[in-house]
Amino acid sequence: MAVLACPSRSVRSVPILFSMMVVASSFLLHETPFYHRPPPQTKPTVPSSPTILLSSTTSSNSNTNNRKRTSGQRYPTPPRIKKTANFIEAAALSSKLSSIPPTSPQKTIAIIGGGLSGLSCAKYLTDAGHTATIYEARSVLGGKVSAWQDADGDWIETGLHIFFGAYPNMMNLFEELGIEDRLQWKAHRMTFAMADLPGQFTSFDFPPGIPAPFNMAAAILSNTEMLTLEEKIRMVPGLLPMLIEGQSFIDAQDELSVEEFMDKYGMPRRINEEIFIAMGKALDFIDPDKLSMTVILTAMNRFINEADGSQTAFIDGNQPDRLCAPIVEHVEKGGGKVVTSCPISSIELNENDDSVRCLTLSDGTEITADYYVSAMPVDVLKRLIPKRWSTKPYFAQLSELEGIPVINLQLWFDRKLTSSIDGLCFSRSPLLSVYADMSTCCDEYASETQSMVELVFAPCTKEAGADRNWIAATDAEIVDATIGELERLFPAEIGPGAPDGVGAQVVKSTVVRVPRSVYATTPGRGKYRPSQESPISNFVTAGDFATQKFLGSMEGAVLSGKLAAEVVCDWSMGVETAGGGVKSVHESVVVPEVGREPRGVSGVGPIAYGGGAQGEFGRGKGGKEMEHP
Ligand SMILES: Cc1cc2nc3c(=O)[nH]c(=O)nc-3n(C[C@H](O)[C@H](O)[C@H](O)COP(=O)(O)OP(=O)(O)OC[C@H]3O[C@@H](n4cnc5c(N)ncnc54)[C@H](O)[C@@H]3O)c2cc1C
Repeated sequence: MAVLACPSRSVRSVPILFSMMVVASSFLLHETPFYHRPPPQTKPTVPSSPTILLSSTTSSNSNTNNRKRTSGQRYPTPPRIKKTANFIEAAALSSKLSSIPPTSPQKTIAIIGGGLSGLSCAKYLTDAGHTATIYEARSVLGGKVSAWQDADGDWIETGLHIFFGAYPNMMNLFEELGIEDRLQWKAHRMTFAMADLPGQFTSFDFPPGIPAPFNMAAAILSNTEMLTLEEKIRMVPGLLPMLIEGQSFIDAQDELSVEEFMDKYGMPRRINEEIFIAMGKALDFIDPDKLSMTVILTAMNRFINEADGSQTAFIDGNQPDRLCAPIVEHVEKGGGKVVTSCPISSIELNENDDSVRCLTLSDGTEITADYYVSAMPVDVLKRLIPKRWSTKPYFAQLSELEGIPVINLQLWFDRKLTSSIDGLCFSRSPLLSVYADMSTCCDEYASETQSMVELVFAPCTKEAGADRNWIAATDAEIVDATIGELERLFPAEIGPGAPDGVGAQVVKSTVVRVPRSVYATTPGRGKYRPSQESPISNFVTAGDFATQKFLGSMEGAVLSGKLAAEVVCDWSMGVETAGGGVKSVHESVVVPEVGREPRGVSGVGPIAYGGGAQGEFGRGKGGKEMEHP
């Protein structure tokens, strides 16, 4: 999961209130001041979530597309997500784009990439009356949210994806497409495995009906298992400037790692161990000593300021069918097209200026349009930059951004794990980030008899904080290491602690490696994120890495595509762009004096296009990607 962001200056009175609440609520909640870790509990505890209602059809096989199956309890769409300033802003941009007069010039746009940013861009260009065509390299849409069916018919996902209430553009998109019922909202709580207490979990429970930031304060204060009151109070000085100054403070912390920030504001290291490691691994698949503090603050800012911002939802099935397909339908209804298995192999320029003349396919076919949008991941875009563009600062800055590796696993068990929770869990284990039992959380994968646990394995290279390069490990090594951690998370059900000394058995496993996922948010990267508007008169950049107020996430991708559509619309109407021009490039960017030939995309598998693949292809393993989209 990789999340959030955004400014908010609307809460100047909050800091004082917040500090007062921290102290006052602790007494109201009868918490012992300067409380220390509770003694280990003797019985495994699972958060007191509402009873998991496993209803309807039972199936031991997760492979059918049976929409009648339902998983855990569905909570209503959080009522306050559409009342936030960010949602109102998202809806206003949609309305600007859909109310462009039909008399304004209608253009053709070629979009490279059918991930969420490309799909969102096409959707909003269609709403604005333009004709968009998406060229997607792979046979499946979605990029990092893509999924494919294996020989058994099981869906294999690139990644476990979680939606947040603080995803205004995503929520707005679901509403516009009329598919809001596909979001399976979970109880408003964040569940963490207890690091030192196998099989025990604790949660931050956000009380319903209480406004922000009081509901978060209550959630933090009512949890006495992760942080002491002293530690909670010592978090406040680091959070106050964020609440007072808003996004400018958050952005300014980008040069500091989480640990450096904590030292600067005197935050005890235990906050790192208890919370920030889990957040860093979940938000950017990286350890806090390597992660920019902006990432943590960005997420916390949203969660503090938006009452339902931290509430999570799962989509009710595989994303290509449940999210990408309705967008395609919308685009095609509006006269656009979505072409798959169609990789763009070069960007050709006009002789007289640096504008795009055409895109080419590997067979030499030329694609022309009025405007061109790159919705490719940054690692792929860098390889296609034409020689004449390589000496431009705008494109040179991209060399400062690079995707971070991550691994996604799906494990099918021979039985239902009874201690699974209905929602996301932060595993707080060395190798894993977050996981969910999809047989409980997601309708399409629902089963009363077999658990399918989906897990994010991160960090997974030494650069990101791992002990070894797990990307190059064999599937068996990765699965074994994961099961080792699951024995700690489910001690009564998996491994030697189970009544029969063996417990639940994995009957099937898949490992999807994504060597270049979202851009690595190491300190200081923010200043190199390019604006959607480029210095090229007919070329726009979309993608989660491009500048927008959300991080590398599904929300960031959707917003970036929407902002790219806005640039095209403004250009086509000949008006000043709403974003205020091309973002200035930081002076530290090294701009090559001599142009470089584009390196070109190497390979034809999903990895070459910034996606994830099954198969062992690590250095020295002699393996290869498996044949799939
Ligand atoms: C394991 C994992 C878990 C995640 N969990 C979460 C989560 O819980 N919440 C969240 O918000 N985000 C999460 N993310 C991040 C999220 O998936 C991404 O931020 C988002 O999907 C990126 O969308 P994008 O359009 O910018 O890029 P991509 O999804 O990478 O799309 C780019 C598209 O361009 C195509 N392409 C590339 N080159 C070419 C070419 N030459 N010609 C034609 N097409 C091309 C690719 O095939 C791809 O389809 C997760 C990511 C991973 C990997």
